[in-house]
Amino acid sequence: MQNYEIWQAVMGELELSISKANFITWFKNTGIISCQEGQAVLCVPNAFTKAWMEKKYHHTIIASLERVTGKPIKRLEYRIESLKNVVAETMLASKPLEAAMTAQFNGPAPAAPAQQFDNHGGFTVNPKYGFENFVVGRGSELAYAAAQAVVSRPGVAYNPLFIYGGVGLGKTHLIQAVGNEMRKTNPKVQIMYVSAEKFGNDFISSVREKTAKDFQHRYRTIDLLLIDDIQFIAGKEGTQESFFHTFNELHQQNKQIILTSDRPPKAIPALEDRLKSRFEWGMIADITAPDFETRVAILERKCLEKNFPLDSRVLQTIATSVQNNIRELEGALNKIIVYHQLKNIAPTLESVKSLLTSWAGTPVRQSLTPRQLLEAVGQFYSLSTDDILSKNREKKISLPRQIIMFLMREELKMSYPAIGEELGGRDHTTAMHAHEKIVKELSDDLKLKQDVDLIKQRLYVNNL
Ligand code: ADP
Ligand code: MG
Repeated sequence: MQNYEIWQAVMGELELSISKANFITWFKNTGIISCQEGQAVLCVPNAFTKAWMEKKYHHTIIASLERVTGKPIKRLEYRIESLKNVVAETMLASKPLEAAMTAQFNGPAPAAPAQQFDNHGGFTVNPKYGFENFVVGRGSELAYAAAQAVVSRPGVAYNPLFIYGGVGLGKTHLIQAVGNEMRKTNPKVQIMYVSAEKFGNDFISSVREKTAKDFQHRYRTIDLLLIDDIQFIAGKEGTQESFFHTFNELHQQNKQIILTSDRPPKAIPALEDRLKSRFEWGMIADITAPDFETRVAILERKCLEKNFPLDSRVLQTIATSVQNNIRELEGALNKIIVYHQLKNIAPTLESVKSLLTSWAGTPVRQSLTPRQLLEAVGQFYSLSTDDILSKNREKKISLPRQIIMFLMREELKMSYPAIGEELGGRDHTTAMHAHEKIVKELSDDLKLKQDVDLIKQRLYVNNL
């Protein structure tokens, strides 16, 4: 079994169990140097990553390595070394296999950065996200059509284009496809792709380092601005102010702006009204979870790309077991492919089914702590932990607090006294009451149900 294959499979698992930002930050430029007789050595780019891995991901990595290799790992070490050297060595050692693996996965090696710098000093789009490999289904039709319209008439058709939908449904893919497509017709087009978080951090460091002019120049002299997960600027006043001016400047010059979010502008709490209204100027398109046929079509497409054909009964089985989002669907497929390649056996309905069972049991859920849950809900509603733990009974705080208690009961199976304790020493009857209330309201409050679903998605996909 090649190290490359092992690491590919481990990264596949990890990518699903931690947030994308964390995944890229910590696992970019990592690799495996050796893995034998229960001893594994990883290469990491610097001491900081090493310390972080040891502290945060050590056990997760070990567990995943054990699952992938099917053998116990007694010792895991991290060595600071450039990935290039490690890869070069492995490539020399087993060139044909490496090439085969790369072709199978039809993509960059696992450690390839997901983003690239452009000559503007900003992030630009990843070439692997195109229109041609985006499978359109009923849930994504509108967003897809809008994205294409933007390519043919940038800055004019719909400005801004606002795409919203749950985690892993293709928002990032779609907006980056716009960038890639525009670049095809005009290689000089200046594109900036950033997460709202990165935009906020950039803004803050520009204030701290007194480089406001550079910041403005960077964001306001481009042709296409893609901001991912804009909901994260909610509650950050300075960042919103700065984004407001960036938006106006670009919009006035008919430069295209595309935004994504997990909800429509109106439903983003703590977002300034003037921004909300601007986000509604152009076109708002949602992406909803793919239906069964689309899931099968996506799987077919990915199999084709990876050059690993699976028969339709197998594809249907996967599509039935993995329903939530496309990122998970892809993860399940990758796992199935890697497993059968490693064992060198042909996939059967049985082997696939048994893999899917263990899939459902990936330990993401168990690793969620009450505090993480509390913080995630707080973040969703732009409330601080202090707000939540306070005695304040305003609805905007009390409802999220009740949702937290409900989720602690439902998802973490905590006792009512323990829930009360976690919420700053509240009585267990308060927790009971909150749980009862949310259960009742969920059946007829669609908005609440939507919120709770979104929070759950975030908990499980973005769980650190
Ligand atoms: P989001 O930004 O909505 O969380 P992503 O764009 O990151 O989701 O998509 C998650 C993964 O699923 C990516 O690897 C993406 O390429 C893939 N994907 C999403 N939607 C589609 C689609 N309609 N067709 C093909 N692949 C898709
Ligand atoms: Mg995204």
